[in-house]
Amino acid sequence: MRVNTSSETQILAELDARTDVRLLDSEPLSAHTTLRLGGTPRAYLRAETTAAVAECVRALDAAEVPVLVLGGGSNLVVADGSVGDSVDDGELDFVVVAVRCEAIDISPGGLVRAEAGATWDDLVARTVEAGMGGLECLSGIPGSVGATPVQNVGAYGVEVAQVLRRVRVLDRVSGKDEWLEPSELGLEYRTSKLKGNDSGLVLEVEFTLHPDGLSEPIAYRELAARLGAEQGERVPAAKAREVVLELRAGKGMVLDAGDHDTWSAGSFFTNPVVPAAEFDAVRAKVAKALGDEAAEKMPAFDVMGGGSGEAGVKLSAGWLIERAGFRKGYPGEAAPMRLSTKHTLALTNRGHARTKDLIALAREVRSGVEDAFGVTLHPEPVWVGCTLSGES
Ligand SMILES: Cc1cc2nc3c(=O)[nH]c(=O)nc-3n(C[C@H](O)[C@H](O)[C@H](O)COP(=O)(O)OP(=O)(O)OC[C@H]3O[C@@H](n4cnc5c(N)ncnc54)[C@H](O)[C@@H]3O)c2cc1C
Repeated sequence: MRVNTSSETQILAELDARTDVRLLDSEPLSAHTTLRLGGTPRAYLRAETTAAVAECVRALDAAEVPVLVLGGGSNLVVADGSVGDSVDDGELDFVVVAVRCEAIDISPGGLVRAEAGATWDDLVARTVEAGMGGLECLSGIPGSVGATPVQNVGAYGVEVAQVLRRVRVLDRVSGKDEWLEPSELGLEYRTSKLKGNDSGLVLEVEFTLHPDGLSEPIAYRELAARLGAEQGERVPAAKAREVVLELRAGKGMVLDAGDHDTWSAGSFFTNPVVPAAEFDAVRAKVAKALGDEAAEKMPAFDVMGGGSGEAGVKLSAGWLIERAGFRKGYPGEAAPMRLSTKHTLALTNRGHARTKDLIALAREVRSGVEDAFGVTLHPEPVWVGCTLSGES
């Protein structure tokens, strides 16, 4: 499949001649994704400054060479030789631009600017050490700063949208490089205008943090309880970070190369939002399958939105998966891909899985929940060269 044309070869050579770009050959994406899945792209460019990242993407776009912008690879499902639009040996029909510009600037007043390739959790740690609150509940999320607005990352009752000041985006259609307000990004639950399309390249991100060293109001009940705080209270950011990291580690949600439960893309399915008018039917199915008490106790929160902008009810994907009969560790030790033994919402590679194994397990879980409760789960990661339904 390697289809480098002479113009593509020339562009790659010109980019490689820069001091802030390195061209790597035969670089499998399984070495750059937290699921450890993915074939080998046509070429892999490591870009170490914002100018280099922008130039790599601009030059390849202008030549109509397909590009994958890569951060930490923690929210990606990539085709390999087992599935999707890759041939048997797993060659992928695009060039990777790995965003590796990493500067961070923290001003005493609470204004923080970071380049897109900075490691997210390094930024969180540095702001907390500098006595600033705001990011602590997002501690331990893998990946890069630049990807955080892409899916509006969130955890423990906080979303990055709450502390974003502005985002520097290269518009890949118009070529404009400008700072955008959060209101221009279409930030919603685990998504934004930038997710799942090639419209914009994030180059830098600014945050407005609390210089008093206190956290965002603690919204998540389990976290408040562990902190000995009331819901809504603000606590020292360093304490909140410590407890969040402990809670996350207990669920296999902090990367650890020695622990296969963390070889994942985090929560694989988003919490589904069903239209308010359909909620009673879902509850009735739960009652029929599990009894009235379970139906009463099913986690359900009224929300606006879910993509439609209409009133809906947000359910817990993890709860539905477990109640549909998928236990932690499903389907068992011999399987190459299993649910995490610590958290039913993570699909994990036990060491030798292929992308087809991930897709098979994801489909099984999704159909199991659909059959049991009539609720369709949607995957959270971005799919590259393959889809959940299996075709490319
Ligand atoms: C163990 C684990 C726990 C996780 N926990 C959470 C959690 O609590 N909350 C949560 O929200 N997520 C969580 N995630 C998912 C993931 O970490 C986040 O979505 C993260 O922000 C992805 O960052 P990344 O740099 O790895 O992006 P990648 O996986 O490299 O890319 C994801 C998408 O963003 C695009 N992208 C990356 N960088 C840029 C850029 N600079 N400009 C434009 N597009 C870009 C890519 O092209 C791709 O489409 C978890 C993942 C794992 C493995």
